[in-house]
Amino acid sequence: MFEYLRGRLDAFKEAYVVSSGVQAGIRQSRNFRATHTLCEDDLRRAARFDDAIALAVGLIGSHDPAGSHYAYHERLDRVCQVPYRCLVPKETDGLLLSGRCMGVEPRIQDAIRHMPVCMATGSAAGTAAALTVRHECQVAEVPIKPLQNALRTNGAILE
Ligand SMILES: Cc1cc2nc3c(=O)[nH]c(=O)nc-3n(C[C@H](O)[C@H](O)[C@H](O)COP(=O)(O)OP(=O)(O)OC[C@H]3O[C@@H](n4cnc5c(N)ncnc54)[C@H](O)[C@@H]3O)c2cc1C
Repeated sequence: MFEYLRGRLDAFKEAYVVSSGVQAGIRQSRNFRATHTLCEDDLRRAARFDDAIALAVGLIGSHDPAGSHYAYHERLDRVCQVPYRCLVPKETDGLLLSGRCMGVEPRIQDAIRHMPVCMATGSAAGTAAALTVRHECQVAEVPIKPLQNALRTNGAILE
């Protein structure tokens, strides 16, 4: 990018690199097995869930783990809800998932890996963790209505 900008744009003729990221960003890697795996069918039918805690965007797509291009990409004109169960690991107690590692089919990772959905699921996971303390329960037993009420009070858009 730098060579391109310096070679093509007058404003960059004298430019030089001061610093860059310490690590290359990776768009897609592994996902946990959660008690619900958000899937292509959920997206296509704009699924609604009683335990919704966020919205996923209408993007079906994934990146080729071995390359820099989309392995698959399709835009839908609808969104679906993300159930709380996507944040609850199938095999591990005392842990909540959020962001791009949550329970989702790799093929539709684009529906949840963008920052707004990562922030929304992160906020839901944090709120749920607080409720486990208040209700002295496991993450899988978090009462859904108080969780949704707390999220809505904090401005979350669930539908
Ligand atoms: C090149 C690139 C461009 C992108 N562009 C966009 C864009 O334009 N718009 C958009 O919406 N999204 C974009 N994304 C996607 C988006 O930025 C990420 O999917 C999103 O930030 C992932 O959020 P996360 O919370 O799941 O993970 P992360 O943001 O990766 O957060 C995980 C955090 O955990 C920390 N961590 C890891 N291991 C440990 C450990 N053992 N102990 C403590 N901390 C640890 C990491 O340091 C990191 O801070 C882009 C992604 C990439 C790679």
